[in-house]
Amino acid sequence: MKIKISNLSEGIHPFSFDELIGEVGLETPFFGMVAVIGELNKLHNQIVLDAKISVYANFECDRCTTAYKNLIESNYRMVYLFGKEPDKEDALNVTYLSIDADKIILDKDVRDYSMLAIPMKKLCDEDCKGLCYKCGKNLNEGECECSTEDIDIRWQPLLDLKKKLNIS
Ligand SMILES: [Zn+2]
Ligand SMILES: [Zn+2]
Repeated sequence: MKIKISNLSEGIHPFSFDELIGEVGLETPFFGMVAVIGELNKLHNQIVLDAKISVYANFECDRCTTAYKNLIESNYRMVYLFGKEPDKEDALNVTYLSIDADKIILDKDVRDYSMLAIPMKKLCDEDCKGLCYKCGKNLNEGECECSTEDIDIRWQPLLDLKKKLNIS
């Protein structure tokens, strides 16, 4: 994903891309196309880029292990400054461009921000019921045969405590 910036006039310039994930170097769990829309705001000595990334990814639910796909969305802003990068510069979201740069390349930022947007906790649904700890049945598909009655009586006080503490 490249945007030509030679002879770019000052002001707002919208852009949009729709590319196969491999073209920006994304791989599994992402799949299909990655869409990036946004705008460049060209100022006297800098360009401010605002972008929104949308890409699908395949995950496995942490609770029930079912495979599911999810739309990953991420917004980011990058400020491109013309000139030499100062020593020890570590400002986030700032990229230095040479005075005669004629394009900006989005690939690395699109990759990084897509990866950062992968949720830590992967759930097929907020209310996923998970698997029965005894028989392994996916409880989203219905109740299992394991009745609470045949739970070893020695565990009952612990189960009552768990209930009181509201942990599952
Ligand atoms: Zn699940
Ligand atoms: Zn069960």
